[in-house]
Amino acid sequence: LQTKLPAVGTTIFTVMSALAAEKNAVNLGQGFPDFNCDPQLLQAVTDAMAAGHNQYPPMPGILPLREAVAAKIETLYGHRYDAQSEITVTAGATQAIITAILAVVRPGDEVIVLEPCYDSYVPNIELAGGTVVRVPLTPGSFRPDFAKIAAALTPRTRAIIINTPHNPSATVWTEAEMRQLEDLLAPTDVLVISDEVYEHMVYTGARHESAARFPGLAARSFIVSSFGKTYHVTGWKVGYVAAPAALSAEFRKVHQFNVFTVNTPMQHALARYMADPAPYLELPAFYQRKRDLFAAGLAKTRFKLLPSAGTYFQCVDISELSELGESDFCQWLTREIGVAAIPLSAFYGDGFDQRVVRFCFAKKDETLQLAIERLARL
Ligand code: PMP
Ligand code: GLN
Repeated sequence: LQTKLPAVGTTIFTVMSALAAEKNAVNLGQGFPDFNCDPQLLQAVTDAMAAGHNQYPPMPGILPLREAVAAKIETLYGHRYDAQSEITVTAGATQAIITAILAVVRPGDEVIVLEPCYDSYVPNIELAGGTVVRVPLTPGSFRPDFAKIAAALTPRTRAIIINTPHNPSATVWTEAEMRQLEDLLAPTDVLVISDEVYEHMVYTGARHESAARFPGLAARSFIVSSFGKTYHVTGWKVGYVAAPAALSAEFRKVHQFNVFTVNTPMQHALARYMADPAPYLELPAFYQRKRDLFAAGLAKTRFKLLPSAGTYFQCVDISELSELGESDFCQWLTREIGVAAIPLSAFYGDGFDQRVVRFCFAKKDETLQLAIERLARL
């Protein structure tokens, strides 16, 4: 069989979660909470099902949910999207991203990704027939390098994918950086796919700089988010995309034929739950406490902590601890020490190994404590 994706195997998250389960290791690899969501959200699903919301919803999503999303974006980021024509409910951020790419990337178009990047972007671009243009984030700091991004722009550049707060590095773009991107793209018609799934996980008072805050970016962006991350329900696979009407129309042409609609009762439950902003407004404090608990434990180990300004990830330098490369280290750590992590090399096309691995701290305190006990033996 001639494969369409010769470089693609099974995603690292599946590989490491399977190994963690097999070895009964504490799974700090794949990013998902090991605790349940708010019972009120579960009740809202039960109520929606009992009320008969069990058939196909409207193709772009139920209007009350789209209205709730539009209201949230306006309140937090000051940009008004029209719920009818500019917000679409998706099957998680994953489907939003591939749908946006399939909707706008034509064969031969170039799409810039900033490495390290989330592992679905590159295969998505390839499936659309696009050419992937990899631009490294600054080694060490993981900050965007605008000279390099500028140098990568060509008349064939169709889009750039950005991600803040950033998986895997846990950096958060500043207002100045977003403005630099806005200025850089101003003379072009390059589109932006802004992956903002960790928008509500930003720490120590910093703020999330959504592309929606910057008119020059909002006008050219698909902004993607995920209820899975925000409400501790990654398995529900519900997210959304916000984009200007013309871009949303193109998005929906693809969306209607790759998923058509997203499950109805969860949409009703999420619409009801979103009426109260407290759950997402309280999320930074909730996760910052876990971040600090985990970091305090790691401080007693030989891991060197990198800053975690956002997301639910903590990266650590392993170079003082082991001679192994990242990937072998993660395998060894899972098998022998009983803690799973993700190698950053999985987020680079060439497997670049900088001796850094990623832990997820979206876990019960006792899970984090158990992991720390095991890691302290190193
Ligand atoms: N983008 C990034 C940066 C992510 O970390 C994730 C979750 N792993 C996704 C997209 C996909 O989100 P969802 O589970 O909603 O599809
Ligand atoms: N986004 C999550 C992570 O980075 C996992 C998503 C997945 O398993 N595809 O760990």
